[in-house]
Amino acid sequence: MEPDWEGGLAELRAALGRKLLERPAERLLYRYDALLSGPAPRAVLQAESAADVQVALRSCSRHRLPAVARGGASGLSGGAVPTGPALVISTTRMTRVSIDPAGRLARVEPGVINQQLQELLRPHGLYYPPDPQSSRQATLGGNLAENAGGPQCFKKGVTGDYLLELEFVTADGQLWQMDRSGTDLPGLIVGSEGTLAVITGATLRLSQLPSQVRTARALFGKLEEAGRAVAEIIRRGLLPAKLELMDQASIAAVEQAFHLGLPSAAALLLCDCDGEDPEEVDREIAEVALAFRSAGALQVDLASNPAEAERQWYARRSVSPALGRIKPRRMNEDIVVPRSELPQVMQEIRALGDASGLPLVIFGHAGDGNLHPNIMYDPAEGRWAEVQALAHAIAKVAIAHGGALSGEHGIGLAKRPFMAEAVPQETLRAYRAVKRALDPLNLLNPGKILPEERPL
Ligand SMILES: Cc1cc2nc3c(=O)[nH]c(=O)nc-3n(C[C@H](O)[C@H](O)[C@H](O)COP(=O)(O)OP(=O)(O)OC[C@H]3O[C@@H](n4cnc5c(N)ncnc54)[C@H](O)[C@@H]3O)c2cc1C
Repeated sequence: MEPDWEGGLAELRAALGRKLLERPAERLLYRYDALLSGPAPRAVLQAESAADVQVALRSCSRHRLPAVARGGASGLSGGAVPTGPALVISTTRMTRVSIDPAGRLARVEPGVINQQLQELLRPHGLYYPPDPQSSRQATLGGNLAENAGGPQCFKKGVTGDYLLELEFVTADGQLWQMDRSGTDLPGLIVGSEGTLAVITGATLRLSQLPSQVRTARALFGKLEEAGRAVAEIIRRGLLPAKLELMDQASIAAVEQAFHLGLPSAAALLLCDCDGEDPEEVDREIAEVALAFRSAGALQVDLASNPAEAERQWYARRSVSPALGRIKPRRMNEDIVVPRSELPQVMQEIRALGDASGLPLVIFGHAGDGNLHPNIMYDPAEGRWAEVQALAHAIAKVAIAHGGALSGEHGIGLAKRPFMAEAVPQETLRAYRAVKRALDPLNLLNPGKILPEERPL
């Protein structure tokens, strides 16, 4: 059955009134995320409650209308970008939060911005560990839908590790509330990129802010030495709170953009160790420094106070904003590889970048084996095929070393072309079976994650 937009939109208008945006200028604002853009949606629902989402999805289901959930649109894989005529369901007005400090829980709606939750928690001495670097823009619904990570996730785990209960609406408009006992259905929705359900609420676990934090920065003469240092830290059984990488190109981009006085080096690793016992934390950061040196670090500096540590972390957070100085657009990779493979993987990716002649910047959550090689390009230069070829070659390096296409940004549209190579056919069949069970009409975020069916 073809989508019935006329009947569907009339029904949505009658039920949702001014929450439904239909003017072209308004719709245009909902066609992109932080990486890609697509056609403007046919309409946008600014949902204010789970009931609004239910009403919308019931109409979509009756009239066969595709629906794309959207949070802060900070996604880096095209997840919230419509692939054809669609209703976008925006959650940015669903921002209720209640905090239970004694129980270390927060009950949130999906449109709450990650950073806003952190600010509400700080006076209670608490925090929410999943900390994507986009925390000022990304919503908790988007974080759940992507199973987002961040620097702190090395030690503390990713978004899904902090979910206790999930509320979501399936494509037929039914509302579900579940904890994770028994068969973990919420776990299935986490990381499903809006393809299985629209998340309308969650209960999240919180942690106590550590009282002791030490920061170390190491500079390396070769990129692969930084990879070796990460492998050495893992080998020694150390568990820093954060362990992040910037390569020469990212250091240079940040320096050019923000003039922070960063030294030049082939690579930089930034590490935090945290805990409650000052002596233990001192011991751990000293061992990290030893691991850095044994991998060939040219220089290791310990931050002497929190302000200095903050300046170093500010540099790391500035990588993405600085990239626009190199070229106007980027193709963002998000590979994750076993940490023992990092030195070799880094070397191979750098060599691919050099051979391509395209600017390639590498940074990421090295402690997790999660690298973000960013291919910088200018659409006016007409090198899109080369960009795609380099992205594909990098994906192949990850696969060859036992890694995966995405550590945290999701597959979305950007990595979808590589899925058939990266994931065995039987696994793809299982994904499709799950999709059919929850969304038999393929209405939720169609055209994402799963590659086109191959003819038998
Ligand atoms: C500068 C920068 C730094 C970043 N750093 C990190 C990082 O450190 N770690 C990391 O993991 N990511 C990072 N990202 C990527 C991005 O911020 C995350 O993927 C984030 O979780 C997306 O949240 P959002 O609200 O912006 O989601 P959107 O971009 O709006 O949507 C992302 C996906 O989630 C789906 N979705 C959104 N809301 C819902 C919902 N309520 N129910 C169901 N599906 C939904 C969408 O359909 C889409 O598929 C970064 C992005 C930028 C621009």
